[in-house]
Amino acid sequence: MSKIKDVIRHLETIAPPMYQESYDNAGLITGNPDWPVRGVLCCLDSTEAIVEEAISKGCNLIVAHHPIIFSGLKRLTGRTYVERTVMAAIKNDVAIYAIHTNLDNVYHQGVNAGIASVIGLKDTQILAPKSILRRATATGMGAGRDESLRESGATEIVHLSDNVCEITFPIAARSRIEAVVGQAGGLLSGVHAVEDAHLQTGSGMIGNLNKPMPERDFLLHLKQVMRAGAVRHTALRGREVQRVAVCGGSGGFLLGQAIAQGADVFVTADYKYHEFFDADGRIVIADIGHFESEQFTIDLLHGIISEKFSTFAAYCAEARTNPVFYL
Ligand SMILES: [Zn+2]
Repeated sequence: MSKIKDVIRHLETIAPPMYQESYDNAGLITGNPDWPVRGVLCCLDSTEAIVEEAISKGCNLIVAHHPIIFSGLKRLTGRTYVERTVMAAIKNDVAIYAIHTNLDNVYHQGVNAGIASVIGLKDTQILAPKSILRRATATGMGAGRDESLRESGATEIVHLSDNVCEITFPIAARSRIEAVVGQAGGLLSGVHAVEDAHLQTGSGMIGNLNKPMPERDFLLHLKQVMRAGAVRHTALRGREVQRVAVCGGSGGFLLGQAIAQGADVFVTADYKYHEFFDADGRIVIADIGHFESEQFTIDLLHGIISEKFSTFAAYCAEARTNPVFYL
């Protein structure tokens, strides 16, 4: 019988937790990793309605994109929807697991790969690649520290001689690694970024349409395939669209990258009035809505789980969690 930790381990081979942004709270939020899985419900937002749906479908694990608890909870009185959702999950032994910016930041089977494939982009690349792994040399440290280094987040340890070794670790683990090396009387030096050979990581994605399309036709195509209630966009430039940059959710911080890499259109969400001015005739910004930009993540998660596990059912949420409606 598969346990909750088995499902988590599988999801984290695709999107390791160390790839989440520092402000994020991805991971297991409620529940016990040792519970046997009775069923999984995949969704974008774990709301009260989602917890109810999980219970009615016999699921005890919710896999959500957005973490329901983001910056902490000080009380659980049922005053807010966040408190009520967490209370309902705990009361009913439902585990909630969130796979958020770590899934945004991977190339394969990530949020933006999902968007790119729905829009029909090929030759895709990460829009703003970033290396999360660091490598450094530890000198003067006695042997037998591998276990504490691994516990502190080291992903690779290569012994070059008796008291010199090379350690690879995610940025987030740097201070813990330094502490272990320091406690062992050693010194960590030469910290530098390394590419992760296994996973390409970073924000957003850019690719090309099979053949160029007039701007208006592309925006109508976008509205249709992304099931958007509306597409808010900047002035058309009177040229064809071939190169398209995408970023699920609030991607405005990537506008400069999208322009620099020659995108004709930048597809994202959460644009505010003044930010639309930044297009400045250099690109067309297309805001399709936050939920709409990430909705295919639900199918993505469902696919990742159901192709691996056959001892329980996995479902895509039916409850609508998009809080935004269009008239
Ligand atoms: Zn989002």
